[in-house]
Amino acid sequence: MSSHIQINRICQHCGKEFIARTTTTSYCSHKCNSSAYKAKTRKAKIEKSNEQVQLVKSKPVEDLKFKAFLSIADTSKLLGISRRTIYRMIERGEMIIAKAGRRSILRRSDIDNLFDNPTTIIPKIKYTQTEYDISDCYNMQEIQDKFGVSGKALYGIIKRNNIPKLPKGKFVYVPKVMIDKILN
Ligand SMILES: [Zn+2]
Repeated sequence: MSSHIQINRICQHCGKEFIARTTTTSYCSHKCNSSAYKAKTRKAKIEKSNEQVQLVKSKPVEDLKFKAFLSIADTSKLLGISRRTIYRMIERGEMIIAKAGRRSILRRSDIDNLFDNPTTIIPKIKYTQTEYDISDCYNMQEIQDKFGVSGKALYGIIKRNNIPKLPKGKFVYVPKVMIDKILN
C-alpha cells in the first residue's frame, strides 16, 4: 500500500471511474464503500435466512421421532403417507386426534401403537343412536348367551372389528347385523 501511487479504477459500487490511492481500494468514496458493505451484509442475511428455511423444510424425520405430539403434517412426514390418508384413518377411528384450538394433534405413542398392537386403537367416533336403533342391537349379555362367547372374547371381537358401541343406561349395545356377520 502506498499513497504515492495513482491507479485508475472503476468503483465496484457506482461504476464511476476514480483514482485509487491504494491497490486495495475498490470504491470511489466512503459512501460507496459503506453502501457496498451494507448490500453485502444484507445479501448474506438473506442467504442465511434462505438456508434456515431450507433446513426447516428438509428437517429430518429423526427429529419427529422424539416429539410426543405431532401435527397432521408431522405425522404425514413421519409415516410417509399423505395427509388425506391420515384424515381417512382418523375417520375410520384408526388414529385418535385431539384438537388444540383449530389444529389437530396426534399422540406419538398412539402412532407407535398402530404398529405394536393394531387393535388397541379405540375409535374416537361416538356412534349415535340415530345410526343404530337399540332394537337392532344386542347387549353384551345377549351376545354371550346366544353365541356362547366369553365377555373377554367378546370385547376383543368388538375392538378388533371396530364395532360401534352404544351405551344406554347400564348396558352397552352393539349392532346385531355386525355381530351376526362375525359370530354366525
Ligand atoms: Zn462509487
